Formats: sequence, C-alpha cells, structure tokens
Amino acid sequence: MLDFIAAGALFDASTKKISESTQTFNSLFTKEVSLDELLANLEIEATSDDLPYAQWMMIGDENYFFTIRFLQSTIAVILYRDPLIEELYVTLKNESLYDSLTEGLHKNHGEARICNELKLYTRYSENAFCVLIYDIDFFKKVNDTYGHLAGDFILKELSLRIKTILRDTDVFVRFGGEEFLILLPMTKIAGAMVIAKRILSVAASEPFLFQNYKIDVTISIGITSPLKSDTIATLIARADQALYKAKTNGRNRIEYL
Ligand code: GH3
Ligand code: MG
Ligand code: MG
Repeated sequence: MLDFIAAGALFDASTKKISESTQTFNSLFTKEVSLDELLANLEIEATSDDLPYAQWMMIGDENYFFTIRFLQSTIAVILYRDPLIEELYVTLKNESLYDSLTEGLHKNHGEARICNELKLYTRYSENAFCVLIYDIDFFKKVNDTYGHLAGDFILKELSLRIKTILRDTDVFVRFGGEEFLILLPMTKIAGAMVIAKRILSVAASEPFLFQNYKIDVTISIGITSPLKSDTIATLIARADQALYKAKTNGRNRIEYL
C-alpha cells in the first residue's frame, strides 16, 4: 500500500537515542537526533513521554507522514509518503479550515486572522484594515417559501459571487449560519465602502435561479475599522452593531461605525 518508505529509524526506548537508521533518515536528520528533538522537528506537540502516538505531519514543503511504533525495547519511527493518505490529509486539512457549502473559512480560523491583523495594526499603525460583516435579509422567509435546499443553494451561489470581487489577500469567513465576515487587510474605510457597495450590488443585481424559481436576495452590511484600544471582541461587536443598524434602517444597505 505504501508508495515508498522515505525514512526510518529505531530509537532505544530507555535513552531515546537512535540505535539504527536508514540513509534517507540520516539525510533528513542528523544521526544524533534524539526522539524528543525529532518530535520537535516534526512540529508535534508531544514529547516521547506522551507516546504511544501515531500521527501524520508535514516536513518543510513536502508531505511526509509518519508512524511511531513500540517494539520491545525500541521505538520505531517510520516516515513515508503515501499518495492516498496524502490526499486524505489534504481533504481533512481543508475540512478543518473551510466550510464545505460556502468555502468560507471557519469562524475560529477567521478570528485568528483578525487577531493577527489587530496585532499588526497595534504595532504598525499604517497597517489599516477593515472588517465587514454581512447577513442575508429575511433569509428565514426564503427557507420557508422555497425550502432549505434553495436556501443552501443561495448561500453557495452568493458566496461565489462575492468571492469573485474580493482580492486574494481578503479573508472570507462563514461567521454564522447566514452571516459572513470579510477581513480586508491594508484597506482604509473609503476602500472598504467601495467593496461593500459592490458586494451589495452583486447580491441584489440578479435573482438566484433555483429549479423554476427566481429568488431575489438582498443583504445588509456593517463595517468597522480598528481603534487602538480594540480587542477582537470590541472590534467584532462594533461591526455587529453596524450590521444591526443597517437592518433597522431598512436593510439592503451599508452602515459604518
Ligand atoms: P434578517 O433580515 O433580520 O437577517 O432576517 P432573517 O430571516 O435572515 O434572520 P434570522 O436570523 O431570523 O434567520 C436566519 C435564517 O437563516 C434561519 C436559518 O434557518 C437560516 N440558515 C442559517 N444557516 C443556514 C444554512 O446553512 N442553510 C439554510 N438553508 N438556511 C440557513
Ligand atoms: Mg438574516
Ligand atoms: Mg442572521
């Protein structure tokens, strides 16, 4: 089943030092590497005391997967490449990062990106950015009228429409059911407004064609930019308030706070 064994080493279980290793292993690691150093090198959050342990991991740009097995007084570490497992690993990694319906980044990963942007902004104030939150107007009614599948279809198609007008560096996040957040790095409020207007218009410009239905959709948008005193919680709360304002002021509009 394995494509090929890339590298292997046996570690003495008591000293955790290499007792035997293959040439390929030696070319990847120095011959003196200890099991703990090896684990650190593989970016595993574990020490040899946490074993038994089996994992797949990346080394550098290449995907290597490894298993660790206990033999009697030795520990075998085998690094290998296997296209099937590699594919599975990429799928799992994508699933852990992105929502499968809309291909938006999952909320927790999106928040991590915002935290990072906020840190950069606090340190280098020229690093302006904006956060935009949008939510579909009366989406419950769409589900109730045309069915949940129609709702799913709209979520997917609308995300596609919106992603095509974003930059590669913008971060598109599925923040809740039908609520999305877009992080716009290196963008001042004037620029964010231009993008928000385009987003509003790609949503409303053409109805969504689902089965025999033509479904009109509008969205509401809230935008904010960071203050020096912001935490991620205050920043997102303000974007949410702006969105709420857009809803209460009539929907299908943008508000900035
Ligand atoms: P508002 O204009 O105030 O936002 O009204 P709304 O009806 O959009 O707001 P509400 O929060 O009451 O309803 C959101 C709806 O979105 C309810 C929920 O069933 C639907 N929804 C959330 N996630 C999904 C999804 O993944 N698929 C589908 N089809 N519907 C979803
Ligand atoms: Mg809604
Ligand atoms: Mg909502």
